[in-house]
Amino acid sequence: MGIKIDRDKCVLCEACVASCPNGALSSGDEICIDEEKCILCGACVNNCPMEAITLEKEQAAADEGSSGIWVAVQQQDGRPIPAALELIHKARELADIKKCTVTAVCPGKGSGFEKELIEAGADEVIFCISENMADSDDDAYARILIPLIKERNPETVLFSATILGRSAAPRIAAKLGTGLTADCTALSIEPDTGLLAQTRPALGGNLMATILCPGTRPQMATIRPGIFPAPFPDETRTGKAEYLRAGDTTGRGFEIISAEAKKESGGISDAEVLLVAGRGIGSARNLKKVFELAELMGAKVGVSRPLIDMGWAEYPHQVGQTGATVAPKLLISLGVSGAIQHLAGMGGAKTVVAVNTDEAAPITRQADHVIHMDCVEFVDELTRSFKERKEL
Ligand SMILES: Cc1cc2nc3c(=O)[nH]c(=O)nc-3n(C[C@H](O)[C@H](O)[C@H](O)COP(=O)(O)OP(=O)(O)OC[C@H]3O[C@@H](n4cnc5c(N)ncnc54)[C@H](O)[C@@H]3O)c2cc1C
Repeated sequence: MGIKIDRDKCVLCEACVASCPNGALSSGDEICIDEEKCILCGACVNNCPMEAITLEKEQAAADEGSSGIWVAVQQQDGRPIPAALELIHKARELADIKKCTVTAVCPGKGSGFEKELIEAGADEVIFCISENMADSDDDAYARILIPLIKERNPETVLFSATILGRSAAPRIAAKLGTGLTADCTALSIEPDTGLLAQTRPALGGNLMATILCPGTRPQMATIRPGIFPAPFPDETRTGKAEYLRAGDTTGRGFEIISAEAKKESGGISDAEVLLVAGRGIGSARNLKKVFELAELMGAKVGVSRPLIDMGWAEYPHQVGQTGATVAPKLLISLGVSGAIQHLAGMGGAKTVVAVNTDEAAPITRQADHVIHMDCVEFVDELTRSFKERKEL
């Protein structure tokens, strides 16, 4: 992959030199490229009035002979976490495009759950068994994966953006000398190159950036739990399992004496029905009405960030880029504008109903149904109707 200049078309106008953010181009008898400085951003390509510059993409061939797409599975009490199954399902979709295999690699004490992973989309499952490894031991997780990745050369490795994944993936990437895109909200395959297109919020969440890793392998990304749908098990699928003994993974100078799963008071990521209140709800008192309605409906409550900042709700209730990712069957959005940072957390919702006084609010473009009214009145009416039903 590189920049190529067609000397016959180039008129030495120096538009490319001026456009390069890294000062990688210079002009003399001809335009010269400093390959040390060039980051292949393509700015010169877009700015050349003579269309004399091209970005050559050759990467697809470089992945021949790799061991396909890997998903690093995280375990909890000897079982795969749901986010791992979501990732395997997504990896299957990507692998079908790339015509390569999906391998689920499982460091930890658990084993014997290959059927579940194969039915979610894996072709192969590698158990790296270490009986004494704590589920939260990011260091052991990384130490098991690094030599295996080096030995088997996958083209892509995907991690769930859990606490473990967020901690282990960067140190694995650093040891392998490759890149890592953290906290992706979408993955696809770039048609021209076969590269993994990794999309995530950037510049304070004000735009979505798609990042490619053309020069090093593996391509690595962490993906937030709940971004991709949970798979329906495909019982017709077949695959194979390999059992490796990772052995003793202690010996890093400290020992985990006990570990306790953190209980989140909001627990909104797995809600089937979610009411999400935004600034339009108006007051902490009105937010209490939303909690009351949620209880009547058997729903949970999420909020936009300003409500956390104002102290009306606790952080585990926040939906969005810097909060929880949710994927309910029904999401009712109450007085939320739909800023990009908020939408980043609710892309998995199946049906979205937006209640807003502003018909042009960005949330309305993401909604399946828009109700143009005061959201507090809406909450009051729905509460009344649920109470009446209960009394019948
Ligand atoms: C780095 C960064 C990360 C961020 N992360 C997050 C995040 O994770 N989650 C998040 O939510 N935000 C996040 N934000 C903040 C985000 O940019 C928005 O500011 C925020 O989402 C706006 O919240 P809101 O929609 O509730 O409020 P507003 O933007 O003020 O919108 C209020 C909406 O309510 C409507 N409205 C007003 N009154 C009524 C009424 N009576 N009835 C019905 N509708 C009414 C208005 O028309 C408007 O659409 C982040 C920002 C940054 C810079």
